[in-house]
Amino acid sequence: MATLSTKPNRQPTSPIRLPAIDHQRGQEASHSHSHSVEHLWKQNLDRIHDARPSFCRYSVAFSPPLALVDRESTPSTRSPLRLPSANNNMALRPPSKNTIRFRCFWKTTVIAEVLKNRGWTETESELDWDFFWSDVGWMYEFFDHIHLADHQRFNHFRNYYELTRKDLLIKNLKRMKKNLEREGQVVEAGKYNFFPQTYALPAEYGLFVEEFKRTSPNQNLTKLPKGSRSLQEVGVWIMKPVGKARGRGIFLFTRLNQISEWKKDHRWKVENPQVENYIVQRYIDNPYLIGGKKFDLRIYVVVLSYNPLKAYVYRSGFARFTIAHFTIKKEDIVNNLVHLTNFSIQKHAPTFKSKTGTKWSLHSLKMHMISKHGEQDVNGLFHNIHMLILRSLLAVQNVIIQDKHCFELYGYDILVDDSLKPWLLEVNASPSLAADTPVDHELKYGMLDDVLTLVDMEHKLPNQSFNQVGGFDLLIDQSAPPGSKPPQASHLIGCYNDRLKNLKQLKKASQNAG
Ligand code: ADP
Repeated sequence: MATLSTKPNRQPTSPIRLPAIDHQRGQEASHSHSHSVEHLWKQNLDRIHDARPSFCRYSVAFSPPLALVDRESTPSTRSPLRLPSANNNMALRPPSKNTIRFRCFWKTTVIAEVLKNRGWTETESELDWDFFWSDVGWMYEFFDHIHLADHQRFNHFRNYYELTRKDLLIKNLKRMKKNLEREGQVVEAGKYNFFPQTYALPAEYGLFVEEFKRTSPNQNLTKLPKGSRSLQEVGVWIMKPVGKARGRGIFLFTRLNQISEWKKDHRWKVENPQVENYIVQRYIDNPYLIGGKKFDLRIYVVVLSYNPLKAYVYRSGFARFTIAHFTIKKEDIVNNLVHLTNFSIQKHAPTFKSKTGTKWSLHSLKMHMISKHGEQDVNGLFHNIHMLILRSLLAVQNVIIQDKHCFELYGYDILVDDSLKPWLLEVNASPSLAADTPVDHELKYGMLDDVLTLVDMEHKLPNQSFNQVGGFDLLIDQSAPPGSKPPQASHLIGCYNDRLKNLKQLKKASQNAG
């Protein structure tokens, strides 16, 4: 009943060995990845048993994530909150046997539709719900002041932003790499090479300038006559505000004085705590192009628990294309329609067609790429994406506060370059659940329905871990008993999504189990 005032129980880091990759593009060695993940979870199991996560609510003073509410757009239909005072923690009544009571902030999106169609009952009650699909703003304000009953489930982890804020993501990835190096796991440390070189500004401005001067000696080339040559020779960087989303505030540059001018405009001083934080990142100037256009991938991942880590990745997703052809010429560097794949940017293009949009299903993309490069290379790419996601979760596993009430749906944004290397651009805590087209609706509806099946409020999944639930494939399950069936192949992202067939099989298994 009482909120505990205790510090998070940090897990000791233990050696993590991931599968060896000996292929030019980082593909797995001849032994299957499944074995390696099994190996990984076996290794982690001992340590998990030694250091059981504490499932209590923490009353730790968190530093507020910058511009949090702006970052994860607030739903328009958000109702006013009337919560008890911080000291007045509420014990909640147990779930009704007949129906699951849900609360949802995102009333006009696909999630509201899915929740209703599931036969659950909507409630506007502040706290008397079984399941709450909230925005991160609500959680940030109130989560520490309430006590949840055992059965209640909530769609964010308390400090989710360790993975989803651009600067913290990079900080955690860099730290993981360093820890692995320190522990002598040099090969595994080398695998943390899937994020572009990045500096947090203003804190790391000095380091950035040093690197910029070291690697961009050909600054004068930008002064050549208009349109005469590519900027690849001088090196392009991209500036991104950490507290914004949907491409807002992003710009590309090639010269240091472009930043100096920008700094003046933003009254930008290291010692100014109000300053808007940015990251500056090496621009991937050789994106893989289809029809001459750049795209990035949106992939959905659900984390059911951080400690032990249990996560699934969705087979279907989409590629978001630019409308303009890609060029890296000087005169186009300010053209966001060429460089930013965000739908919210592209929909303003004069040639944008709302019926067709700018998206392509992951499955179509994968088929297209296989027709060009063959199955082996493309499976290698999707395997590397799978491993990138797994490594990013391992990097924050001991940072994110485990709470049995919480789960989270993430939207991963991944760019593929022309050597078929995937790059992690960012992870979204509130991926858009609005549908732009009927195809988009079908994808999101199925994916969200499968999230709810995984969270299993109805207790329909027999008490065991499944390698596939609907369109979700198991990424990792550190709670699986030793010797249990390892996750399936690691290149299933983008494969045919047989979710309905799988759900039928699960239903049968559930009936057989009693
Ligand atoms: P936002 O949260 O505003 O969407 P992102 O980091 O996802 O910010 O960047 C927006 C878009 O900019 C991406 O979808 C991608 O098209 C492009 N982009 C971002 N970072 C890079 C990069 N390092 N190299 C190439 N393109 C990038």
